[in-house]
Amino acid sequence: MDVTIKHKDVDRFVLDLLSSFDVIAPVARDGRFIFDKINSPSEVSAQYNTTILPPVKWLYPDNEKLLEFNLKDINSMKPVVQANKQVLTFIHPCDINAINIMDEVLAEEPADVNYLARRRASVIIGYECLKPCKEDNILCFDKGYHIAYKGYDLFFTDLGERYYVNVVTDAGMEIVNGYDYFIRAGYEDWLRLLKVREDRKKGFKKSVNGDMEMLSHVLKESYNDEIWAIEGKKCVSCGACNIVCPTCYCFDVADEVCPDMEEGSRHRKLDGCQLRGFCKVATGENFRKSAAERVRHRVFKKEVYLKKRFGKSGCVGCGRCIEHCIAKISIVEIFNHVMGR
Ligand code: SF4
Ligand code: SF4
Repeated sequence: MDVTIKHKDVDRFVLDLLSSFDVIAPVARDGRFIFDKINSPSEVSAQYNTTILPPVKWLYPDNEKLLEFNLKDINSMKPVVQANKQVLTFIHPCDINAINIMDEVLAEEPADVNYLARRRASVIIGYECLKPCKEDNILCFDKGYHIAYKGYDLFFTDLGERYYVNVVTDAGMEIVNGYDYFIRAGYEDWLRLLKVREDRKKGFKKSVNGDMEMLSHVLKESYNDEIWAIEGKKCVSCGACNIVCPTCYCFDVADEVCPDMEEGSRHRKLDGCQLRGFCKVATGENFRKSAAERVRHRVFKKEVYLKKRFGKSGCVGCGRCIEHCIAKISIVEIFNHVMGR
């Protein structure tokens, strides 16, 4: 059963959520947007464009504690799993699709129990972007990731003075059943939804020339293309593209020991394949020494390796890596270069 909610009742809804959950929402900061834990509905900026960091960081945070131990008693070591009940709200389809990718990758054995516990404790409320976040440097439409078919409990679409709310899971149903401002959607609402979605389609355009189904194959054929050396010369190996990407999950672990040299803990620190030391092994060798190799690896990881393993591209086309690259390296330009060969 789908429902609707009037715009004027959304603040009440957020307030009600705040009484039961940690609520993570898009908020404005210095002219940009981030996902942050809110205390009041007035902090929410539902009309946002791409946030600096993606919402998945609330499911897979940096510096997460994994273990606690006591050096005097190795048997005292115990796993730490922190998973508060939280609602991630107003999540755009591209970021929901990124969470879907992370769900698959991190559920593979050995499963990531910390991520999965957080994921189970989280309610996802999707929010339909009615136009692209940016004019260019995004490729969600090329990849079909501008639509999310799963991965959320509720999904809001703006119909004008009210939202259509697609109720997908039991958790979503429990939420809407709890509040009387949700009204069962009728045939007129459904027709209006179809019209809004039809109009939405017109706003999106392709960024990459050619058939995206061929991209993975074309990239493999381009393994020795000059593009990697050209982009590698520009790359300063800062790792910003990894940090902002909603589907980058590589990490390192580090132990921290208290000054008493007894109590300690192990933390997961997010790592990045573009950093010089990422591929350095204990014997001192670095098997991806040049920036050119690293840039190629990042693109291949998203578009070739993940596709081979999970049957789908690992890049949802959000454009964050392009926007935050100080060397102006663009995955869209790289794709267009290889597709035009
Ligand atoms: S953000 Fe740009 S310069 Fe920095 S590592 Fe990534 S590709 Fe290289
Ligand atoms: S590779 Fe770039 S465009 Fe693709 S999902 Fe990651 S940050 Fe977004």
